Amino acid sequence: MAKYHLPRGMRYATLEERREFYTSEFSLEKVQKWLELVRGKVKFAVVIGRHTRIFPKKYREDAGTTIIIDDYKGLEDVRDYMTEFLPEAAYYDRNVYDSNDRKTGQELAFDLDPENITCPIHGTLADKMRRGQGLGFCKLELDMVKQQAIGLYEHLEREFANLRVVYSGRGYHIHVFDPEAYAFSPRKRRALAREVKRKGFQIDEWVTAGDMRLIRLPYSLHGLVSRVVVPVEKGELDHFDPVHDKRGIPRFLGGGATS
Ligand SMILES: [Zn+2]
Repeated sequence: MAKYHLPRGMRYATLEERREFYTSEFSLEKVQKWLELVRGKVKFAVVIGRHTRIFPKKYREDAGTTIIIDDYKGLEDVRDYMTEFLPEAAYYDRNVYDSNDRKTGQELAFDLDPENITCPIHGTLADKMRRGQGLGFCKLELDMVKQQAIGLYEHLEREFANLRVVYSGRGYHIHVFDPEAYAFSPRKRRALAREVKRKGFQIDEWVTAGDMRLIRLPYSLHGLVSRVVVPVEKGELDHFDPVHDKRGIPRFLGGGATS
């Protein structure tokens, strides 16, 4: 099996690049717009340096942990946490909580990642893991995972009305904002995940079933590949090129969204 080289320009972001991104590029307006879709007061989360092992020295002890951010007044505070922690990854919690912090529902989501794709060159996820390349991927897998995202969206469209697609930096997330989906039981979520897998979509079952409640925050930086997490219209997906699309390329790599 061939060794991985990530597609051109996809590499770890340095601490200085993370700082530049969260200081001058991270758009609170866009995050706010996304959060209008989301219910309740949102909890955010960051991982500083679990995979990259790149972290500010003072956070050495916490580099690998998931840090929950729920003590904030507004998104300006959230930006302050980002410029303080300089995380490799930022997420939000899909759980919906009431004022007593009890879980009352969960946003339904589907996660399609290139490493889950069985590649003609690199093999299955198990093959990749055996080589210690569980997070690697190639251009072919990026194309295959995009086709899966299009197919899964069209499949879900038959049951749900309010769907969004997000390019996660590596693969794609499909978020479901239909009110009834928030109320699905764990059992129903697991059944739905299995059904989708049986149909041939190589999703991460944990995300849909709800065991993994965090999902990447749109408009944050994916620090393993130096890409901005961006929502993409379903109609644009066919021509969307994650390696070259300007919206996904941070300014420190010569990109930067204009709108
Ligand atoms: Zn491959």
